Amino acid sequence: MIEKEKTNEKTNIKKVIAIMSGKGGVGKSSVTSLVATTLNEKGYKVGIMDADITGPSIPKVFGINNKRAKGNDAGINPVITHTGIKVISLNLLIDKEDSPVVWRGPLIANTVKQFYTEVNWGDLDYLLIDLPPGTGDVSLTIMQSLPLDGIIVVSSPQDLVKLIVKKSLNMAKMMNTPVLGIIENMSYFKCPECGKKINIFGESKVEEIAEEMGVDYIASIPIDPEFVELSDEGKIELYGKIKYGLMEDFGDKILSK
Ligand code: ADP
Repeated sequence: MIEKEKTNEKTNIKKVIAIMSGKGGVGKSSVTSLVATTLNEKGYKVGIMDADITGPSIPKVFGINNKRAKGNDAGINPVITHTGIKVISLNLLIDKEDSPVVWRGPLIANTVKQFYTEVNWGDLDYLLIDLPPGTGDVSLTIMQSLPLDGIIVVSSPQDLVKLIVKKSLNMAKMMNTPVLGIIENMSYFKCPECGKKINIFGESKVEEIAEEMGVDYIASIPIDPEFVELSDEGKIELYGKIKYGLMEDFGDKILSK
């Protein structure tokens, strides 16, 4: 068993939660951002580590992609969002955000470990880690070497080809990482005219799978054009305020974990 990394002495992180998905495009980064803004609104100190190194999208949705994380001998200072969430992402460290990261797995895995040990996170109630999609190298390194309190698995109805979700859940089990639950994103679309729920990607199976795998079902998030708009404009922090009903419920469920 590999020894878990110790956090550097200047940081005090109470809970570390990684957000995982079986494949890309299901909204893992979006859900990470929503969990972060919800907990932040509830008064908790929150940080996001963007470990999706080759496809980082966290800085963009928070509108901080034009800022740069600065370092000194004491470590790297995360960039702080409009509402006070601390973020670190490779995109905040490289010169041009559109440069591709053409690194091999071990180098990426090392960088991610340094995001934990060498960033001045300060006091945090929650550090959320946005993992790359799938069950590859980086997720393995994080589960092996960082002191995770648990993972949240994000899926979408079409992704609920059971096999893909089960792979993520089984990986967590193999690594003895507790699964806090599953969130289904893009679950349905609510017709703005009649309010009827339309299952664009088919009938949800999230509750069935959660039961079968013995994990908790946390929430279903609808497809929402307003969400895409705010994400594209870098204003994701406004979403929670607009959809407070949904977010309130969502936050309470995460906090009960
Ligand atoms: P992943 O991290 O899984 O690759 P993203 O979070 O980057 O996925 O989301 C992929 C795209 O889908 C983004 O353009 C995002 O704005 C959009 N998206 C995510 N969740 C929703 C939602 N609930 N409603 C509408 N669009 C969404």
